[in-house]
Amino acid sequence: MANPVPPRDRTDQPWRSEGAPPPPPPRRKMPGGWIGLVLTALVVYLIANLLLSFFNGVGEPTIPYTEFSKQVTAGNVSKIYSKGDAIQGQLKKKAPAPDGEGDYTKFKTQRPAFADDKLWDELSRQKVTVTAQPVVQERSFLANLLISLAPMALLVLLWVFIARRMGAALGGGLGGMLRPKPPPRPVELEPGKRTTFEDVAGIDEVKGELDDVVDFLKNPQVYRRMGARMPGGVLLAGPPGTGKTLLARAVAGEAGVPFFSASASEFIEMIVGVGASRVRELFAEARKVAPAIVFIDEIDTIGRARGGGAGMGGHDEREQTLNQILTEMDGFTGSEGVIVLAATNRADVLDPALTRPGRFDRVVQVSPPDRAGREAILRIHTREIPLADDVDLGRIAGATPGMTGADLANLANEAVLLAVKRKQPAVTQSALFDALEKVQLGAERPLVMPEEERRRTAYHESGHALLGMLKPGADPVRKVTIVPRGRALGVTLSTPDADKYAYTEEYLRGRIVGALGGMAAEHVVYDVITTGSESDLEQVTQLARGMVGRWGMSQRVGRLTAIPGDPQQPYGLAAAPATLDTVDHEMRRIVDECYESACRQLRDNRDRLDALATALLAHETLDEDAAYRAAGIARLDKDA
Ligand code: ADP
Ligand code: MG
Ligand code: ZN
Repeated sequence: MANPVPPRDRTDQPWRSEGAPPPPPPRRKMPGGWIGLVLTALVVYLIANLLLSFFNGVGEPTIPYTEFSKQVTAGNVSKIYSKGDAIQGQLKKKAPAPDGEGDYTKFKTQRPAFADDKLWDELSRQKVTVTAQPVVQERSFLANLLISLAPMALLVLLWVFIARRMGAALGGGLGGMLRPKPPPRPVELEPGKRTTFEDVAGIDEVKGELDDVVDFLKNPQVYRRMGARMPGGVLLAGPPGTGKTLLARAVAGEAGVPFFSASASEFIEMIVGVGASRVRELFAEARKVAPAIVFIDEIDTIGRARGGGAGMGGHDEREQTLNQILTEMDGFTGSEGVIVLAATNRADVLDPALTRPGRFDRVVQVSPPDRAGREAILRIHTREIPLADDVDLGRIAGATPGMTGADLANLANEAVLLAVKRKQPAVTQSALFDALEKVQLGAERPLVMPEEERRRTAYHESGHALLGMLKPGADPVRKVTIVPRGRALGVTLSTPDADKYAYTEEYLRGRIVGALGGMAAEHVVYDVITTGSESDLEQVTQLARGMVGRWGMSQRVGRLTAIPGDPQQPYGLAAAPATLDTVDHEMRRIVDECYESACRQLRDNRDRLDALATALLAHETLDEDAAYRAAGIARLDKDA
């Protein structure tokens, strides 16, 4: 199975890279980082404290006031400093300490407020030098500086901390200035482990188109010598799950060049300008290690034609980001060796500026695989799975028309999960088919339905199934069930025998009749309308709208496109109001005719409808043969 996408290096970096040489280890900014910072702060604090206490004089012993009084009377005091009632001073000659521990000359003491001892008279009589200080002490310059700076320093620290946190969200903005150096990248994937064309199947024609890109990346000098210019960009367009992302990685892996990938939506932030600066960074990184591939996934999120439905983020931000991508591509001379790949599900809504020559001038369509392709894809995704001998991947491929590579990968995985749950040593054919059922019909839902509703559901599904069986050329009914699955109360599954690429009007009408069959059966049998037909009607509406508005299947609307293909685009302006009225009218006419036809056929075949519903109620699930047998219909066009 394919390698997982490598993780992003940093949260504020929207792209991922693989195969790029590791960058030089980042310089250490500050010894020990945060721990160092804390230690430094501690040391500074201790030194400052020491200095302050030095000026304040800590060394003197405190003596009782009575002792001080005694010394004054004895005439042994040479000078004192006083501040309020606090007194510091010095003796003329040493005196024994009152607590009996050695001698002292310097001292400090506190004069009681009630002392009434004419201290001043005594002091002046003894000729003691008296120095008084104001009660509010002036701190030293250094102390003042430290204290006044403290809140500021705290704020700065806090700001740095927050900025680092926000760096992730803001990217190039405020955080950009303080962004920490990127940590070393994760260990490089081993050479043999990168995705290559080996991991891609079923889209050989696309691989062929990308072959020259690979060749160019492998031998750029050959092209350079001939003065050839490679296309600036290649756009992979196709439905989701067809392997566009996979293909882009495979191109890089095949050429053995670094691969930078980002989803276009990841560039967009609420802050205008951030996306553009990230694009600039991404391309700068890629140029450093060129030849390289830059892959921009889901480019339609920013590359929609202006004036179309607003995507995410502001319009300005989208436009600036897109412009930056275009600018970077214009900046390539081709010899730089950076090739831009992009993927989109909707090539039709892209801004024409993107597909101009020199930009994404090569558009490669990636389509869902055909039968042989599906088999090859299944083979890839079962490479590392133990398969039982009875497994026939060709038959599975035949039963999965319309499924994409992603669907098939999912199918293979579901089959493994099922085998593990059943404690089987290998994946069997029946596990694969059961997994297919789960993938196609949705997971079973344990839901106890009242008997009456069960009966109605049985008739609903029988209606779908019977009309499908009665219509020659319709997709055969593969499975009918009244076991609730996913959001549905029951499911009727019809798939074509072979891949279809174009549909006739007759076939589409048959589809509409079949989709209306559930509602018609409830109508014919119970004469009620329930909410159970919601998704049927959505399908009907979509088919009818396409027939009338896009595929020229209505005489009155005529052979023109009256409705845009992009469902996100409001279609009020696509045609004159009268035309849209006609479209509406014609859609109704077709659906009404089909409903009439559905009801008529069900009435005419009431016995078959009853038989099918009875069989469904008894067995809950009928597969293809059982369903046709229960309805008493022979499959004339059944092949093999
Ligand atoms: P997209 O980008 O077109 O939506 P992805 O490349 O993301 O599709 O496909 C999703 C997964 O489906 C892939 O990782 C791969 O496992 C599987 N897959 C899709 N197409 C193919 C293919 N052609 N061959 C093999 N695997 C495929
Ligand atoms: Mg993709
Ligand atoms: Zn239905």
